[in-house]
Amino acid sequence: MLNVTLWGELGEKFDENAIQAMSEPVVVAFSAMAAKQYMGGLYVASSSGSSYYLDPDIAETKKIKTRFSHSIQAVDFIAGSTKPVLSLEEQKITNRTTIVELQSLNPYQHQETKFTVKATITKLDIQQGWFYNACPRCYRQLKQSGTSWWCDSHGHLTTMPISWYKINARIEDNTGGMSIVMFGKTVQSLINKPCSILTIQEGYTDPTVIPPILNQLKGISKIFVIQFRLRGAFIDAVVVKTFDDDMQQMLLPTPTTTSIVELPSSSISLDPKTPQLETKKTTKKQLIFTEPIIEEVK
Ligand SMILES: [Zn+2]
Repeated sequence: MLNVTLWGELGEKFDENAIQAMSEPVVVAFSAMAAKQYMGGLYVASSSGSSYYLDPDIAETKKIKTRFSHSIQAVDFIAGSTKPVLSLEEQKITNRTTIVELQSLNPYQHQETKFTVKATITKLDIQQGWFYNACPRCYRQLKQSGTSWWCDSHGHLTTMPISWYKINARIEDNTGGMSIVMFGKTVQSLINKPCSILTIQEGYTDPTVIPPILNQLKGISKIFVIQFRLRGAFIDAVVVKTFDDDMQQMLLPTPTTTSIVELPSSSISLDPKTPQLETKKTTKKQLIFTEPIIEEVK
């Protein structure tokens, strides 16, 4: 058994409905896939040039269908399979983009997406301060009236608020620069110091006075995981996580395809001019007009 990971558009467009409507066993041929290693096991993942073909019109399809004609179970769609658990290596390269590319997107349309950007923190902007008083349960900013604190989600606070980093900064790569915001544990992981140590133990209680240690943030180069988040009428580019950028881990040797796929690649002769959409259209037509089994399968 071999796991296949489809990234981005290819994964999103992978037509589960078409497969469910097809007569089993369904043969899928993947092309231009990259072989990868994770936790000692092999898997294949799509690359930018990858495509797939459902029941491709090649000799191997017939062979595989014959082989599995009696033993195959119905295609099992795993719940939540749209959000696979990603390895560290995969997380680091997910939706990799440059700053210019990220800025060209409409943030309102990409709020669900986490992008990764390889960049350097070049400037801190603490005009808005560097921390705030947060609800210990949800880290929302608290409102103060007199000596009491109020959380919009949890109401009147019965414990002390906690101080929570919120730092606006500028990151740059070789394509451009952009403003980002980093909170709590993300900042803490970069300077190895919780916010409460600075406010309570070291006495930096003025959010407009920057503790010197925060200057260490400048010049830090990381892989930033960025997500667009609404804040009232504004939208922030929030750094939700950072990763060390160690290229070594990403440059895995690529095993030969023949060692892990069942079909030697040399024996597959897919017509590169036949796009996958064409294949799917044909398939659907066949199903609708010659094999009225959709009801049955469902
Ligand atoms: Zn709260």
